[in-house]
Amino acid sequence: MFGELEALLLHPEVVNRKIVLLSIVGAFRRGKSFFLDYCLRFLYANYASIKNPSNLINADNWIGAAETPLEGFTWRSGTQRDTTGIIFWSDVFLTGDRAILIVDSQGLFDNETSTADNSKIFSLVTLMTSIEILNLQGLIQEDHLQYLQFATEYGKFMTSPGQEHKPFQNFVFLLRDWNNPDEYPFGFDGGQKYLENTLVVKPHHPEELKSVRTYLKSSFEKLSCCLLPYPGKTVARDSNYDGRWASMDEEFLDELKILISSLLKSENLTTKKINGIEVNGKQANEYFQQYITIFQSNSSIQPQSIYETTIDKFLTALVLQCFQIYKNHVNQTVGNINNETEITNVLHSSRNAALSTYDGERKMGNAEHIQKYRNDLDAKMNNDSIEWIAIAMARIAKIREEQRRAAEAAREA
Ligand code: GDP
Repeated sequence: MFGELEALLLHPEVVNRKIVLLSIVGAFRRGKSFFLDYCLRFLYANYASIKNPSNLINADNWIGAAETPLEGFTWRSGTQRDTTGIIFWSDVFLTGDRAILIVDSQGLFDNETSTADNSKIFSLVTLMTSIEILNLQGLIQEDHLQYLQFATEYGKFMTSPGQEHKPFQNFVFLLRDWNNPDEYPFGFDGGQKYLENTLVVKPHHPEELKSVRTYLKSSFEKLSCCLLPYPGKTVARDSNYDGRWASMDEEFLDELKILISSLLKSENLTTKKINGIEVNGKQANEYFQQYITIFQSNSSIQPQSIYETTIDKFLTALVLQCFQIYKNHVNQTVGNINNETEITNVLHSSRNAALSTYDGERKMGNAEHIQKYRNDLDAKMNNDSIEWIAIAMARIAKIREEQRRAAEAAREA
């Protein structure tokens, strides 16, 4: 996954664009890949992509012809899983200054994946995505909320005092085969009401579920829910079904079109933010590679270690940026000064300029983290200043020696 993801994020059309990462997670054989493939139809019809830079498709007719078989992520009826691990779509869609990546995930809860692996996949996808869809059949059940434990635990660190940003962006519960439209109608509106009802904290809830409910809202910028009808017998059961929309129940087709057009329209394409700051392809690649390395280790994943890694990555980058400010300042001036006091003053003011940039930038972490990295920056500049002073002193000594010799020569002459 490392190389595959890196190649997408560092593609010249992607590296400087802000990243939108849409993912879908949930149990296998519940129509996730099928849904994403219809999303791909919409995306190819509406946006350019790195493989198809000039899209000429009629966006109004994004759903295509009634009889066209579905293509994209592999999907199939039956009980064998098709998708393993985390799969990135090999193309990236481009709109203005944003690049959109699509991720399908391994079927959680098939018999071949352990609970630990399930929760790792779920947590990693949550960390990387800006729009996460949890695909479920029927109702939201208590154990579904438990998947979100990592997200909310992580959210507790990120929303500690002094951290005003929610760590994650959009989370969508997508409920398939909804059979209670009289109480909660299909679509986002019915879904929202159902979700609000489900997330109410009740006294009988076990502690961890109370906690998930309490922290869910503070962990995600937006939580929503969409209710989709049963797609019809052919879609649900026919092992030869090829994905064409001609075979869908009309009600399902209508709701599917509304859902996808709403989810993927430009204004709803939420960008990935880390500590409230949008990340481009290059930055996303750095964070994600770190996360993947941690998740590939065998140990269980502690939200705290991810949190510390994220802070380290963030503050280290800030320290380098500030050190560069100091360097530029010094490089432009010190070489031309031949007076020790003046050199010391310039080094001092360059250090102050870098430190005040550090102090003024929005930061991640608690006061202790922020002070520690500030000290690192100061120590780095201090060491550099010592070198500058040594070089300058040598130069001044040389100049003085030359002046002395010149004066001596003049006297002798
Ligand atoms: P995934 O493993 O979750 O990615 O599932 P797939 O996308 O491979 O689809 C598995 C099966 O579910 C296919 O036969 C689809 O035709 C069918 N399917 C797609 N959408 C729905 C739905 O909304 N409800 C039901 N019951 N089946 C669906």
